[in-house]
Amino acid sequence: MNSRSKQKFKKLDKIAINVKSHRILQQFSKENPDIVSLLREANDKEEALEAMRQWIMPYFENNKTAWDYYNGKISGREAFDQLSWPDYGAIRLMDYIQHAGRIFEDLNLGGDLVGSHPVKYLWLAIKYGTGGANHHFFYDTLLLFRQIKGTYVRQMPDNTMLKQWMDRHPSGLDEKVIKIRKHNRDRILKVIIQKMDAGELSSRRYQFEPGMTFEQKFLTATRWWDDTNFHLKFAVRSPKMLNELLNNSLSTKTMELLNEARQAGIPFFVNPYYLSLLNVAEPEFAVGSDLAIRDYVIYSKQLIKEFGKIVAWEMEDIIEPGKPNAAGWILPTVHNLHRRYPEVAIMIPDTVGRACGGLCVSCQRMYDFQSGHLNFNLDKLKPKETWPQKLQKLMDYFEEDTQLRDILITGGDALMSSDKSLQTILNAVYEMAKRKMESNQNLPDDKKIAPITRVRLGTRLPVFLPQRITNELVVILADFKKKASEIGIRQFVIQTHFESAMEVTPEVKNAIEMLLSAGWIITNQLVFTAAASRRGHTAKLRKVLNDIGVLTYYTFSVKGYKENSHNFATNERAVQEQLEEKEFGRIDKRYNEKISSFAQNAEEMVSNIKALREEAGIPFLATDRNVLNLPGVGKSLTFRTIGLSRHGRRILEFDHDDTRRHSPIIHEMGKVVIIESKSLNEYLNQLEDMGEDKAEYHSIFGYSIGETEPLQHIYQYPAYDFEVTDEYTNLELSETFMDMAD
Ligand code: SF4
Repeated sequence: MNSRSKQKFKKLDKIAINVKSHRILQQFSKENPDIVSLLREANDKEEALEAMRQWIMPYFENNKTAWDYYNGKISGREAFDQLSWPDYGAIRLMDYIQHAGRIFEDLNLGGDLVGSHPVKYLWLAIKYGTGGANHHFFYDTLLLFRQIKGTYVRQMPDNTMLKQWMDRHPSGLDEKVIKIRKHNRDRILKVIIQKMDAGELSSRRYQFEPGMTFEQKFLTATRWWDDTNFHLKFAVRSPKMLNELLNNSLSTKTMELLNEARQAGIPFFVNPYYLSLLNVAEPEFAVGSDLAIRDYVIYSKQLIKEFGKIVAWEMEDIIEPGKPNAAGWILPTVHNLHRRYPEVAIMIPDTVGRACGGLCVSCQRMYDFQSGHLNFNLDKLKPKETWPQKLQKLMDYFEEDTQLRDILITGGDALMSSDKSLQTILNAVYEMAKRKMESNQNLPDDKKIAPITRVRLGTRLPVFLPQRITNELVVILADFKKKASEIGIRQFVIQTHFESAMEVTPEVKNAIEMLLSAGWIITNQLVFTAAASRRGHTAKLRKVLNDIGVLTYYTFSVKGYKENSHNFATNERAVQEQLEEKEFGRIDKRYNEKISSFAQNAEEMVSNIKALREEAGIPFLATDRNVLNLPGVGKSLTFRTIGLSRHGRRILEFDHDDTRRHSPIIHEMGKVVIIESKSLNEYLNQLEDMGEDKAEYHSIFGYSIGETEPLQHIYQYPAYDFEVTDEYTNLELSETFMDMAD
């Protein structure tokens, strides 16, 4: 720490705490006279720390499991399950003590330094009324000591409670919702027709015949509604049009913000179908039902303010020619492959597949958009002459790599590619997999390389634009599966991204049915935004997805820094959701084989999931894992709360998910510290603004430890009946690491 920073922290120590903080501190003193007198006697922060250590140690003498967990003597999910509610608190306090005085660079604050010394802040407040901590800090601390002392207990929800929470969130398949959406469609089409008549919108492909009446035009336009290209052509690209298609229902404040967003250079791209999912007035029977979708379309104040200053979250996605990425992998091109793990790489084609059918507010691609790297100029994204050569180069990379067995074709969005482009890519994958398989036959057992066993398509189009799922596409997918199965590819997955049960419309249901008929399974990745984190919202989504044959795969905490803070739901809520809501869909191990067998018969997915839920007596299958994509390598929800800022923002130290294989670089990287962009109190206030009752979330303060759930059996790679070489190709580790490895 330089002398300027030292000065800054010294100054903060002298800042008097405010009235609101004093009130909470008075309550704290009433409940904890023992701690107050210990801290009053301390003459400096070191003595305060020592006093606190002496105070908590007897707890551990009586609770050996908590002590062993704190020390890392026991770890993992099973050990975590043995911890009691007060244990969480005691471990957190010990972690605060152990990490006291650490300084962190906070990218939420443009790289400013943030200190964490909760015991010192409490000591300063008690002894001198200073320390600069605010009421969020004191409230969190008040509950911590109640948790350790056993006066803040956790009330676990029962089935009835869960059902009530889930029932608050309608689905897009409810009759009343379907009716609203039909009105929305008609309204949107009428505005588009008016704009075409006025010459404000035009298209060579979509034109009315001369002399048509308005009714005839409307009828024609309702037919266009079933056509993907219509929606891409007439996608909203400005705040003005967004508001017009939403019946001018956006507030003046929202419009000002959106205009600012436009001036800042943030692209707009909302297709008419997806826009028809937004309410233009709150329906009485479903107030707030579209919030999770709305917050995914309408830019937040924070995003607009930060745009231009956004820093990359996932370092391994930054690729320089010829240099290994943050995970140590050398990649053949700069823009077409992303790789974190040994077994899988993400392929981004140079086709319209680089685009998406919409733009999600929390998308990590906002980072790229800052440099004007926009991906909604669909004509410019048509494949260039160089693409076939590049595709070959990418296939060579997969073919020659000793460990790659899984290819995830995405973008953007894999299904934004035309049928022809997609077929070209799938053919190339087939040929590559075949060659890889054949060359393996000549290699001795332990020298064999990993053949391709899984192919995935990453797409949000079944949600953004279900019209894209056509009979022609289904034939392409079914044909590929048939021939690829013959050469040993075993897993065929469409990986999609639903945020809300309100996105599941009759059109979506039909699209999913068609995809399943091609024999591919469909898995979902949810981004756990603040609106999606409301009680019961995600549980309801799991149920509705299961109803239509989709399995849930990941529930991702929102990544990014301040730019995504509006949508960020704290990791403590992710753990609370996992243990208090998702738990009701926990599947007994004895069903593992059964669920895995569903993949062999994707066509029967709906009835298979239904039968299993009935047999197990659960409302949904909790096949997903709640995780955060770490700004390092991989996904994890294994963390401990090691600090608390003066403003009550928690500081979490994440460890990597040890249930899966990583790049060997993982041993060099160590733990990853995340400073949450809002305090738990601020998050709860945000939920209250959405009409939630904060009391229903009260146990959130007690969650301070996470352990990544194991990957469900169905998502594991099939076992080989031979040994794959343990040699790595395309991997470059630093010299320091090589020395360590030696
Ligand atoms: S679909 Fe995925 S890649 Fe596309 S905008 Fe949304 S989050 Fe980003």
